[in-house]
Amino acid sequence: MSQQRTPLIAGNWKMNGRLEDGAERAEDLAGRMQAKGGGGFQMLLCPPATLLTAVGAAIADSGIFLGAQDCHFNDSGAHTGDISAAMLADLGCSHVIVGHSERRADHGENDALVNAKAAAAIAAGLIAIVCVGETEAQRDAGETNQVVAGQARGSVPDGANAGNLVIAYEPVWAIGTGRTPTAAEVQAVHAMIRATMAGITNDQTAAGCRILYGGSVKPGNAAELLSLADVDGGLVGGASLSADDFWAIATAAG
Ligand code: PEP
Repeated sequence: MSQQRTPLIAGNWKMNGRLEDGAERAEDLAGRMQAKGGGGFQMLLCPPATLLTAVGAAIADSGIFLGAQDCHFNDSGAHTGDISAAMLADLGCSHVIVGHSERRADHGENDALVNAKAAAAIAAGLIAIVCVGETEAQRDAGETNQVVAGQARGSVPDGANAGNLVIAYEPVWAIGTGRTPTAAEVQAVHAMIRATMAGITNDQTAAGCRILYGGSVKPGNAAELLSLADVDGGLVGGASLSADDFWAIATAAG
């Protein structure tokens, strides 16, 4: 963590939650945030689209940010089932995740599409959280830096800056598996991403841009991961489905 970048602790609920438990969890976290007061870290909840309105209502005035898990790259049009970034902004979202490895795998999303989605998010006034990360086979082949840097170069849109872009480094093999890279490995990849960002954008953006770690972040490993110099928060999947666990992770950041 650095003094200059406020840690962001983001919960990706994925396709989990119904109205009752989703709103309840959000209210629980909102109460804790209000009791804590500002400073230390920012918290973001990214529920499924069906829960955005209810979660948005539950966290109103708590300081917790609302985000979505995906958006379309067009503002409107004949795209059945899709939701645009402008529509998410209408609902009170401030952030949207794009290029999560599950979307890259399940929906065949490539860097060009992720780039277009991130550009649309930024144009709609949202902060785009662009996900990158290598598979286990790529790591075993020694290709981590090449793959992750390539994804960042392909997925970060023109016009991105420290205020409208967050990168999430999520090794695919660490997501939902209980396995994580070592702290030294995480720090090395994050530093490499920051150096890559300097090439894609400029030194100021690279220095200010938050790079989150994601992949089996739990209360037990959060303090170590979040203490790393180039780790500026976490993108948390499974553990964000428990208010106690997610709060323990967030407070490990500050
Ligand atoms: C994720 O999918 O964004 C994620 C990090 O999941 P988990 O924390 O469950 O590994």
